[in-house]
Amino acid sequence: MARKIFIAGNWKMNKTAAETAELASALKASLAQFAGKCEVAVCPTFTSLATAVEILKGSNVKVGAQNIHWADNGAYTGEISGAMLKEIGVEYVIIGHSERRQYFGETDETVNQRIKAALKYGLKPIVCIGETLAEREGGVTNTVLEKQIRGAFADISAADMDAVTIAYEPVWAIGTGKTATPEVAQETHAFIRSVLTALYGDKAQDIVVQYGGSMKPENSGALVSKQDIDGGLIGGAALKADSFTALIQNALNA
Ligand code: PEP
Repeated sequence: MARKIFIAGNWKMNKTAAETAELASALKASLAQFAGKCEVAVCPTFTSLATAVEILKGSNVKVGAQNIHWADNGAYTGEISGAMLKEIGVEYVIIGHSERRQYFGETDETVNQRIKAALKYGLKPIVCIGETLAEREGGVTNTVLEKQIRGAFADISAADMDAVTIAYEPVWAIGTGKTATPEVAQETHAFIRSVLTALYGDKAQDIVVQYGGSMKPENSGALVSKQDIDGGLIGGAALKADSFTALIQNALNA
């Protein structure tokens, strides 16, 4: 099965509901041209999800959340459940973003629990992995990534992997303007796919692995043209309709 290109915007803690309405309306119009050519999603903050779902209903732009708790409900102040996301029509959920790992104590174990909750509720996880600058410079990138992958997908079956996207995001490239070169990114994506092959055999060829970290219209083509890079998880460049649209256009034209 040929892997489809999947580009998702991670809006992080940006955009009020009113601003979301404005950006989602603009994207609905500007991204319609990509219908049938690639998968596109936007991931606004919790308070803007319902607005985004409403505006993008019936369009080719899907909506994702930025986190999900593993419990069905209960005393978890500040968290959100799979049922709550599913109820409002969310399709994807980002799990284990490096900002969650760095600032909010996310671990491979909690990532694993959140993935299981997403799958239970029929949500599609976008699972983030990536090494820090110290880890890359220390020559332990592959060790770190393999541990993250094995931890995240413990007890997750090959059949469940149909719903899963992986986002490889070198932490040193997120929001810094520094991008992994297409060659370095490809080499790392190939390693990630080799770990997935060890876990899931041929199914690894079907798993979409996005690149994330300062992807923009200027470099999306060179990155996505690489064999094992199947799209992107986009931060800064996803916050404006013109840059997100150009980024996707260039990725598809590569
Ligand atoms: C991200 O946070 O997922 C990301 C890739 O951010 P940026 O594109 O801004 O580097």
